[in-house]
Amino acid sequence: MTTNTGGQASHMFLLQYGAERVPRSLSLRGGSSDLGWEPLYGVLVDTAEGWVLFDTGMGREALDADVTQDSYRAAALDAGADPDSATWSMHPAPPDPTRWNWGLEGDPLTAALATVGVGIADLRLAVISHLHLDHSGGIPLLADAGVPVAIHRAELEFARSGKALFEEGFRAEDWSDPRIRWEVLDGDTDVAPGVRVLCTPGHTPGHVSLQVTLPDTGTWIFAADAADLGQNLLDRVPCGYCAGGTAVDEAGAATSLDRLLADAADLDARLIPGHDQLVFNAIRHPSAGHR
Ligand SMILES: [Zn+2]
Repeated sequence: MTTNTGGQASHMFLLQYGAERVPRSLSLRGGSSDLGWEPLYGVLVDTAEGWVLFDTGMGREALDADVTQDSYRAAALDAGADPDSATWSMHPAPPDPTRWNWGLEGDPLTAALATVGVGIADLRLAVISHLHLDHSGGIPLLADAGVPVAIHRAELEFARSGKALFEEGFRAEDWSDPRIRWEVLDGDTDVAPGVRVLCTPGHTPGHVSLQVTLPDTGTWIFAADAADLGQNLLDRVPCGYCAGGTAVDEAGAATSLDRLLADAADLDARLIPGHDQLVFNAIRHPSAGHR
């Protein structure tokens, strides 16, 4: 059982950076080849030690690059999807539904933070769930601003191992800048008052989730890609894809899902999937943030 020993944060904003079009089988083990739009979002928490951000979405360069479009398309075809079949029902609607992803104008991280009056240089720490390009695209901007970046040791080691390929969603430009101020984590870690990093390996070798404790709304757990969709949690179905590719990774994904469900039950926490537009829209922050 996880006990929260780290106090409380004061308030929290949920920021959608953009979205991506992916086959359900990427999110759900044994899932269909149907394409769906999934939001890219971050969690911004105000703590007694300053602003803490969880995940950054995709960077502008990656969003605009043909090679990114080609890579998403290839993954969809590989899963057996019809690339022209995608539809969406929830807002926000994709500005161009024939593309594979979209992001806020300019740099999505900068633009999203600006909606709540925060600049990148105001961040005390950024925690990155894992180094897939739809989560790590803002790291170069964090490096520019000198903001420390917390990451699990196994994630950084995997990224640097040569096995983390662009075709598998890893974009080396995101994590190669020598100026990045890494804060390397080895296990569950309280990183600020009310903010705890939870180790949930499987989707990638060093994947982490985030637990936030607020004064009025209590404990929230953001699964990130340990559970993309509500369906993962409702049916206890692990993620559809493990970057490490071994039986150990597959088992880890199942164990991590069990762990999040157990933690949420123990702490009476709100457990939030990482890429579910229905859930995201239902929990969007009020204008002053969640408290
Ligand atoms: Zn991922």
